[in-house]
Amino acid sequence: MKLEFTCSQCKIQNKFKPVTATRGELQMKVGDEVQVTCNYCSKEDKKHINRIDAVVDNRKILFALIISAVVAVILLSFYGLIALAVISIPLLIWIQEGKSTNHFNSYKIRRK
Ligand SMILES: [Zn+2]
Repeated sequence: MKLEFTCSQCKIQNKFKPVTATRGELQMKVGDEVQVTCNYCSKEDKKHINRIDAVVDNRKILFALIISAVVAVILLSFYGLIALAVISIPLLIWIQEGKSTNHFNSYKIRRK
């Protein structure tokens, strides 16, 4: 969550700090009205704290999404390797069996 106010001049949403959990807490910290400065047009303005709104912080969600995607890829490749190892066990046994039988069959006793 982040707090934002809308600039009265350029209508662009600006970040507001400090961020508090409730408007009541914000009132205790900064009072009923706050002095704000627009980051885009530098307009100074007085805002009632009722005009400050909480919005979902998409960057935080995006960040979490990237992290979970990376972890998922790592886990998938890790389990993929384990799966590959499990699948290769009968293959290795088959190769070994082939070698053993070839070894046995290739050696013949000379008949008397
Ligand atoms: Zn502005």
